[in-house]
Amino acid sequence: MKPTPRPLALAVLGRGLVDPDAPVIHADDAGLLRGLAAFETLRVYGGRPFALVEHLERLRLSATRMHLPLPELATLEDLAAVALEAAGVADCTLRFTVTGGREGAGPVAMVIIGALPSCLDDMRARGIAVISLSLGTDPRSRRDAPWLLDGVKSTSYAVNMAAHDEAERRGAGDAVFVAADGSVLEGPTTNVWWRRGSTLVTPALDLGILAGVTRSYVLRLAADAGYRTVEGWFLLGDMAAAEEAFTSSSIRELMPIVRLDDKAIGSGRPGHAATSLQAALRRAAGA
Ligand code: PLP
Repeated sequence: MKPTPRPLALAVLGRGLVDPDAPVIHADDAGLLRGLAAFETLRVYGGRPFALVEHLERLRLSATRMHLPLPELATLEDLAAVALEAAGVADCTLRFTVTGGREGAGPVAMVIIGALPSCLDDMRARGIAVISLSLGTDPRSRRDAPWLLDGVKSTSYAVNMAAHDEAERRGAGDAVFVAADGSVLEGPTTNVWWRRGSTLVTPALDLGILAGVTRSYVLRLAADAGYRTVEGWFLLGDMAAAEEAFTSSSIRELMPIVRLDDKAIGSGRPGHAATSLQAALRRAAGA
């Protein structure tokens, strides 16, 4: 796992701006001890956090599902503004983290501003290879199991990060998770898409995947651009036979997939849906 670069700015609820090198979590914080913490990562374009309301709503949902007390969303929004101003950069990443805190002391909420990875536009121009990795789970049996926290963005992301590392170890740029029955799910930090003709396909939310904020934008932007969109349960072979494929996520935005498990997808080059919808996403973000 690559080390996370030093934050550009850090603000902690109740403390305001804090030196990014200063410790802010106690050794007995429930986030650290038991993974009881929710987070959101979003992208800032020209000084404006994109889809802030949607991300804060999802943070609320994650916290509710984990029985994690959450500060007022307006307070978190103010904290984000403080951190963003201190960072003094127009284009960056913004992360909210809310941890369970110490026993009896209430949650710890913070906003971290980070630099954008410099490699993304090059990766987008070339497209990436992905590998499929089985999660070994049955989405049908997960449906009535809220304790599995499907669709919750908690900091218990070690499996997702290990999958990403495995992809890199095998020379790929990302992974795509597949259920025990072969259904395509999502990437470790992305939603996945593919195109047949003018139809764009993406796995349905009832598979227990994360309801990506970017995914919801792509559904709207794709319809505006004249694509038919289908959400459902699809096998990996369906994705492999597509004319093009891509991932969607807040930081990487739309990332063309040009190889899946060592076979080219379509022409083996980024396709028109990924390219045009990436441009549409940037317009929607006011970039
Ligand atoms: N799926 C998973 C598991 C994720 O962790 C993420 C983002 O981190 C996504 C999908 C994409 O979500 P979003 O578009 O809201 O960034």
